[in-house]
Amino acid sequence: MSGRWKPGRFIECGCCGQTGRHAAHGWRQTCYDRWRRHGKPAGGPPPPMTPVEIGRINGAKPSGPRLERIEDFVLVLKTRPADTAKQAVAQAAAAVGRCERTGWRYITSLREQGVTLRDLLNREVPL
Ligand SMILES: [Zn+2]
Repeated sequence: MSGRWKPGRFIECGCCGQTGRHAAHGWRQTCYDRWRRHGKPAGGPPPPMTPVEIGRINGAKPSGPRLERIEDFVLVLKTRPADTAKQAVAQAAAAVGRCERTGWRYITSLREQGVTLRDLLNREVPL
């Protein structure tokens, strides 16, 4: 059998250059998912967002303070105990002076980067 495809082998992603498990078309799962989310464009997955772009979609100014706020938000998420994901997001957002709704926007942005809330919390919590 020629051209045998080994699912799950580690590759250097043809889209972003990061190492990860092969999903399809020479891309890792994150890039493959992004490609599908964007309607399978012929040119392949749109490039992954940079931290500056994460800042941009979270507000008008992709400024240093905003990026630092997301970093602080993530730090609080990772370190402060919470009973539920909702509580964790609300208190992490509050810690950086933002409402829970903004916290969930941060979560959505981070998910675009392949970072899930569960990764961030690094523990199992009820949603
Ligand atoms: Zn990639």
